[in-house]
Amino acid sequence: MSVSVVLGDITVSHVDAIVNAANCSLLGGSGVDGAIHRAAGPELLRACQALGGCETGQAKITPAFALPCRYVIHTPGPIWRGGGHNEAALLASCYRSCLSLALEYGCRSVDFPSISTGVYGFPLPQAAHIALRELVAFDRTHEGMVLRMVCHTQEALRAYQVDWNMFYQETKPHEE
Ligand code: ADP
Repeated sequence: MSVSVVLGDITVSHVDAIVNAANCSLLGGSGVDGAIHRAAGPELLRACQALGGCETGQAKITPAFALPCRYVIHTPGPIWRGGGHNEAALLASCYRSCLSLALEYGCRSVDFPSISTGVYGFPLPQAAHIALRELVAFDRTHEGMVLRMVCHTQEALRAYQVDWNMFYQETKPHEE
């Protein structure tokens, strides 16, 4: 099993690709999006401007410029509107779209933030369940990919660990 859950800052990840929890404009925002743009430098915004936005649940890729990774995969997560607006399927689609782009670009290590669980308000337990389900399903059919959920807060870390222990305990994640 090469899926793991860690506490950290995704802007310092030395991996092939990091995922950005973006918005549909792809022109930067708050939270992890702002942190990624600040660390990557102004060239990232210029590269994003050329992409013409992105639909919720889809993903687009750029170089990573000043970041220590190779690529940034931008995906707008769904805004939580009570759960009855296709939010779960859209969130799953974010993870799948990012993984398929990562594969296409030859990435072997990908770090994800907890998409939609900041200002977009997706409840952490549900978001953690969807994220891990998608990463584990992908991992089972794609040997050699190293996938990590990089949680920025203890609260997020706990939510992902709880879901891991409930559903994947037999396949212990890497501890870091
Ligand atoms: P969204 O709009 O998709 O909710 P946010 O950026 O507001 O995006 O939050 C998504 C998650 O990213 C939150 O769990 C937040 O704690 C986390 N986050 C914020 N900064 C970082 C960072 N530097 N590295 C990893 N995760 C981060």
